[in-house]
Amino acid sequence: MTVSITQPIRRRWRGWPLIPAAAPLVVGLFYLFGTLGEQWAVVQTAVYVSANATMAVAATVASRRHPSARAGLLLIAASAATSVFADIVFYFLAFTQDQAPYPSIADIGYLAAYPLLAAGLLVLVRKRTPGWDGASLIDATIVATGVGFIVYALVIAPTIQVGEDNAATLASVLYPIGDLMLISVGARLMLGAGYRTVSLAALGVYLAVTLYADTVYSVQSLAGTYTAGGYLDAFWMTASFVFAAGVLHPSFGTLVAPSPAKTPDATAGRLLLLAAAALVSPTTLLVQHLRGEEPPIVSGTLVCNVLFLLVLARMAGLVRAQRHAAITDGLTGLYTRGYLTRTLQTEAARSARSGAPLGMLLLDIDHFKKVNDAYGHHGGDAVLVEIAARMRRLVRNCDVIARYGGEEFAVIAPGATLAKTAELAERIRRGLSATPIALGNDRLHTVTASIGVAVLPARSADADELVLAADRALYTAKNSGRDRVASAPVVLVT
Ligand code: GH3
Ligand code: MG
Ligand code: MG
Repeated sequence: MTVSITQPIRRRWRGWPLIPAAAPLVVGLFYLFGTLGEQWAVVQTAVYVSANATMAVAATVASRRHPSARAGLLLIAASAATSVFADIVFYFLAFTQDQAPYPSIADIGYLAAYPLLAAGLLVLVRKRTPGWDGASLIDATIVATGVGFIVYALVIAPTIQVGEDNAATLASVLYPIGDLMLISVGARLMLGAGYRTVSLAALGVYLAVTLYADTVYSVQSLAGTYTAGGYLDAFWMTASFVFAAGVLHPSFGTLVAPSPAKTPDATAGRLLLLAAAALVSPTTLLVQHLRGEEPPIVSGTLVCNVLFLLVLARMAGLVRAQRHAAITDGLTGLYTRGYLTRTLQTEAARSARSGAPLGMLLLDIDHFKKVNDAYGHHGGDAVLVEIAARMRRLVRNCDVIARYGGEEFAVIAPGATLAKTAELAERIRRGLSATPIALGNDRLHTVTASIGVAVLPARSADADELVLAADRALYTAKNSGRDRVASAPVVLVT
């Protein structure tokens, strides 16, 4: 008799749908209060501040849900809370004085929010990508340099030029520098290895919208066309709400889960993005020149050079990874048979010139089918990985070791005589079976191997003969009872 038990599925109220539902309402109210006249200014301000406050609260709530990402989320919550306090100070100054001073104490809060947010996002990056992920680091640097240059050319350079008041200029330059910091960390987050989830998309939208609004704000401030209560406020508020929904979304747990891959694939989309990011700086210079403006030639050229070198470094990395993949066995990480064959030919030619002997051994695991039968194909694979690791420890540094076939391995031992190669083979044979291999659930399996040894005598360059001789010796080892080393007679040079 089968009994089926239907368990009630406990669904936790995660609250995130509330934010996209409420956000348009809040933004609408903000503009509504704006039209109602001066007496509603404080309420309008409160509505505005609620967006940053939502982000602070959401990050705090998320920090309780995701203990592994607690530090990062609390830093982000601290950043948003700092912005809230800065907003309150700013509007207090604006309401109590005719004109809020610039820079004021509020700017210290706004500026402090940048490194806190960047640090929080970096902690999330570390959670997602525990390794180094150098390829994504280069990608992120290319994007940050490209986008950063636009910010520099459009905002920082002109600000420095017109700056008269030192404190105001400093503040105006520090904001875009904060944005540059966010661009770098944001690019690292978006381009690094890790799961792509709705939460990640929300964080990306937050960063893109914030950076866009910040840059437009800076450009308008410079031109003197900025007015408070304009469309930019909607951008900032929306960005904060999107962020809050993102950290509360159920997929946030996956966002901070460690990435299964060390580095993401170089997809067509990624390469297009990198191409666009690399071209953006020279294009900005050209557009500025064509419009009769004075482009920042020195910094522009330097940035183009840096981008050029970064793209080259990335290409070199891709070529190296391709080459590595082509000569490496995917399961064991040993060399492939193709690589071993090519190396054997080079070594044979070298040994024919120098007169040094060249040893080789072929190894086949005994009764490996039984391993697969007993532990399944996955168990068999795990045994192969462990055998490869043991063999790597047992050979000399100068030996070349490859996975020759399914459960067959080969070692080339340059300079080794027949006696030395047989000694090496014996060491491997003993080393492999010395301790059983653990296979989970306390299951242990001892493997033995049969090994055929051959050596190419001095002044011979026939690598194929060497392989055939090692194969014959392996056959002898198998036929005389397995778990042993057999040597082929020295190949005669004809
Ligand atoms: P013996 O060599 O002692 O004669 O017996 P054996 O059972 O090891 O026989 P053989 O070397 O001919 O069999 C190789 C077996 O290895 C057959 C195949 O199922 C298994 N095998 C080959 N490649 C892989 C692999 O990549 N993973 C796993 N799990 N098994 C493999
Ligand atoms: Mg075999
Ligand atoms: Mg076998």
